[in-house]
Amino acid sequence: MSDFRSLYVHVPFCRHRCGYCDFTLIAGRDDLIGDYLKGLARELDLLGHVPVREDERPELDTLFFGGGTPTHLPPKELTRLFQIVLSRFRLAEGAEVCVEANPRDLTDERLDVLRRSGMNRLSLGGQSFDARALALLERDHAPEELAEIVRRITPGWENVSLDLIFGVPGQSLESWEETLQRATSLGVSHVSTYGLTFEANTAFETRRRRGELEPVDEELERAMYDVAMETLEAAGYAQYEISSFAKPGFACRHNQIYWSGDSYEAVGPGAARYLEGARETNIRSVLGWLARLERGESPVAEAEELAPEARARELIFLNLRRVRGIDRTDFRERTGFSLDRLAGPAILHHTQAGNLEDDGQTIRLTRAGRFLADHVMADFLG
Ligand code: SF4
Repeated sequence: MSDFRSLYVHVPFCRHRCGYCDFTLIAGRDDLIGDYLKGLARELDLLGHVPVREDERPELDTLFFGGGTPTHLPPKELTRLFQIVLSRFRLAEGAEVCVEANPRDLTDERLDVLRRSGMNRLSLGGQSFDARALALLERDHAPEELAEIVRRITPGWENVSLDLIFGVPGQSLESWEETLQRATSLGVSHVSTYGLTFEANTAFETRRRRGELEPVDEELERAMYDVAMETLEAAGYAQYEISSFAKPGFACRHNQIYWSGDSYEAVGPGAARYLEGARETNIRSVLGWLARLERGESPVAEAEELAPEARARELIFLNLRRVRGIDRTDFRERTGFSLDRLAGPAILHHTQAGNLEDDGQTIRLTRAGRFLADHVMADFLG
């Protein structure tokens, strides 16, 4: 079995599909939750992760339940979800165990299930403290409700992350600043900020094409990202990745596994695992994933074995997301390739364009470059 110490579990249920969301999920089909849990156990079994005695279980440093909305599951099913995973793996001392949560789902009963099952990090889909933006994003909470929920949970949960979205049509810079101020005043340990994108096949993209939604202009979006970096850093949140800001000691360990190019296991519809250069992605359709597992078949839809050079290039792509960038010595030791042989022209081009800084040992995105990260990183894939 491959060597990994991180596991991602995809939980594909939500009450409603928000208009901007293109994640793998099935909304309004809670009747499938029981089948999903059976499918998950089957997939883990197929991968060789069967229930065993605790001292024989592989150890995890990070475990992440994402979605969809894992906390959409009723308490009984949520308990079962954690049992399925934790009868097959054990948590290392100090492991990070994170669950994505919709704020309104966090009843005392569910919080109790999370706590008793060993969760120690909550990632909340807060998105905004602006009532207009929340309504447009089709979220089911009001700003004051979100603040009240965060205030209620933070005394018992040290590690709480809040997701925030900027660039919502009609949103002003002042409204975004107010959202950031309110998030920091609540004292959460981590904030992730995402610029709204109009993904293909979403309701938002259809509305954009019809002229019903107008994306904010690029200058305003850039100003919003700038304000996020300034406000969060001034409030004691260090930026460690393009979208991620943390109080000291609270950077998300699980996500850092992705950006470091380390191995991780993943299960659930649409989940992608990466094990020593081999990437496999599960079928995205929840019904398709269930049907394959019911037949005892693998749900893998795509498999790719990366050649050494492709693996090295992908490592550049991933490492560049980190604020600390790429250390040339470290890169050579991990990949066997010289960073400059592989990507010299792209490094020079983006350094001259002001998107990268290069001190001879390390390259990293500049502040301006972080805004153009996707465009810069694409140039390193070869
Ligand atoms: S709650 Fe999150 S995962 Fe679910 S539809 Fe909305 S954005 Fe997507």
